[in-house]
Amino acid sequence: MSVLYERVALIGLGLIAGSMSLAMRRAGLAGEIVGTARSAETRAVAREIGLVDRVTETIPEAVEGADLVVLAVPVGAMGEVAAAMSAHLKPGATVTDVGSVKRAVIEAVAPHIPEGVHFVPAHPIAGTEHSGPRSGFAELFRNRWCLIVPLEGTDPAAVARLRALWEGMGSRVDEMDAAHHDLVLAVTSHAPHLIAYTMVGVADDLRRVTDSEVIKYSAAGFRDFTRIAASDPTMWRDVFLTNKDATLEILGRFTEELFALQRAIRLGDGQHLFDYFTRTREIRRGIIEAGQDTAAPDFGRGAVTS
Ligand code: NAP
Repeated sequence: MSVLYERVALIGLGLIAGSMSLAMRRAGLAGEIVGTARSAETRAVAREIGLVDRVTETIPEAVEGADLVVLAVPVGAMGEVAAAMSAHLKPGATVTDVGSVKRAVIEAVAPHIPEGVHFVPAHPIAGTEHSGPRSGFAELFRNRWCLIVPLEGTDPAAVARLRALWEGMGSRVDEMDAAHHDLVLAVTSHAPHLIAYTMVGVADDLRRVTDSEVIKYSAAGFRDFTRIAASDPTMWRDVFLTNKDATLEILGRFTEELFALQRAIRLGDGQHLFDYFTRTREIRRGIIEAGQDTAAPDFGRGAVTS
């Protein structure tokens, strides 16, 4: 594949930035990959394992001369990072981000984008519960969707080039507006994470009385919750603080349905439960048919890393 950006700067060197570096390198999509992170420790690890071609101490040094700048920090840190890079961007460069929430990131970053620089927000729908500079892998984006959220009036060539980058890293790409993105992700990712955090929290309380039986006899359902609930606390705190409205809307719906199921159990309404579970099973089948998961036992996790 041909080089799409001569120099790429990654701000943040965690799971997503690290995976992007490895995927871009493997596909030959970038001339040089430069990166920086907040802590000296992360920068040292990135240097040690050769995660990028060059690690810089500061954000201005990293974005100097870069054709593409990727903001890969927690959503709550996007604004301060954008402010730090703003005066050092190359004219004609593209700035993108990988944040899990789009409206709040656009509000925080757009005011810092100078005239003549393109800002094209994006969100790869791919992740694991791991974080940090050692957690990335080149396959993370393969067959996963990346949503690009172009702002009105953005140069179509800048959008097309970013699309080509994500496709080159193995993703399928769709475009969507920011408000719709935040609602879709509240349903498919943010609310489920909150439910998993809650379920594991409840079980953690139980454990005190049942002497670690929860862990010992943890069945597949609970094990899956614990995997999700092990996700990075900073990232997820920021997701809920910044995608507040959509998450609350979905949680309202969730609570209503939970009450309806609770009522069906209390009244012994088996038909209600059976119909409900039949409908949810269809959704699972749809996800498998769309190639977004596997029907293998334990979700095929023995074979797949994400
Ligand atoms: P991560 O592994 O925790 O990495 C975050 C990186 O950001 C770290 O290198 C951290 O540096 C750096 N950082 C944090 N605050 C900073 C600041 N103020 N200035 C400079 N660097 C800073 O996180 P991740 O999973 O890659 O997530 C990055 C972004 O991708 C988030 O916006 C998240 O919403 C989004 N995303 C995540 C997933 C997922 O499943 N994980 C999926 C899609 C999108 P230190 O190590 O030095 O603290």
